[in-house]
Amino acid sequence: MLDTLTIRTQRTPASRLGELDPANIEFGKTFADHMFVVDYANGEWQEPQIVPFGDMAVSPANSALHYGQAIFEGMKAYRTTSGEVQLFRPTDNCRRLNLSAVRMCMPEIPEELFMQGLLQLVRLDSEWVPSQDGYSLYIRPFMFATDGLLGVRPSDTYRFVIITCPAGAFYNKPIRVRFEEKYVRSAEGGAGFAKNAGNYGAAMYPTKLAQQDGYNQLIWTDASEHRYVEESGTMNAIFVIDGRLITPAVSTSILDGITRKSVLQLARDWGMPVEERKVSVHEIVEAAQNGTLQEAFGVGTAATIASIAVIGFEGTDYTLPELTDAAFSRRVGKTLDAIRAGQAPDPHNWMVRV
Ligand code: PMP
Repeated sequence: MLDTLTIRTQRTPASRLGELDPANIEFGKTFADHMFVVDYANGEWQEPQIVPFGDMAVSPANSALHYGQAIFEGMKAYRTTSGEVQLFRPTDNCRRLNLSAVRMCMPEIPEELFMQGLLQLVRLDSEWVPSQDGYSLYIRPFMFATDGLLGVRPSDTYRFVIITCPAGAFYNKPIRVRFEEKYVRSAEGGAGFAKNAGNYGAAMYPTKLAQQDGYNQLIWTDASEHRYVEESGTMNAIFVIDGRLITPAVSTSILDGITRKSVLQLARDWGMPVEERKVSVHEIVEAAQNGTLQEAFGVGTAATIASIAVIGFEGTDYTLPELTDAAFSRRVGKTLDAIRAGQAPDPHNWMVRV
């Protein structure tokens, strides 16, 4: 990796790190001291900068606000037990951001620019990477249109930014979910495989309805018949039935999760049968009824593994067996934690030292 890209850096005169209570981190509220910013204009990326975290001025006619040309990524930096800081598969996030960019008619960002911005920012704010078990520095790269012109057409100008915030451990309690039988997150041919802002805004209402009915999250189903499993909230869904790992194959309506592909890789390394295919709601309900559904869980950067305790369908709640330490989801979660903390070998070279 080249270390030569010069990024003009304006350091904050007063770090806010002292105001952070490491025992009480509320996710997404307190941001590290600096952010990386680079604008796109005249058909090219302009001079990148690292500046103190702060508000940005945009035109009220900003086309991201009106037409949703806005995309993002989510990734984390981890502190190893020996005190170093490392990133998990960061170039995969860059590649996925660029897939989202193409889908939304936005400019792709060169991997070198993305990686240098990321590495230099996290290095500068490395004291913000917590060291408690399961804690991390959450990293949010994002890009939005900046033309101040009302017109439904791709913007000519954009801004790419990276902000970061310390994160504690997530959803530690097994969750209650239900299959969504009315609303959809995305359809084949739509933009579900992209991380564009609108996908998330439109998911809030059905999620709120599920929460009002006592569930933590919902499991999205396909747009045409609600017959096949898509994703679990903002995570990919994985099931263990009779010792086989079963997960919906990625498509234009499903996000290609980096945690998902890492979990599948580890399962294959361990010799476990892995099936990536269409997974019907009926198959899961039947397996829950006949006792062959051993595990169900969501996988994603935020929580790594979110175990599912209860699945609701057509008004009936199906309770899954309690997990033992030998359960696949527990073992794989622990293995990923250990790789990230530098306590286990990293056979696929997923970690990148900051
Ligand atoms: N699906 C959706 C819709 C998501 O937003 C995310 C979070 N990025 C995931 C799945 C999990 O992806 P990853 O493992 O790359 O975080």
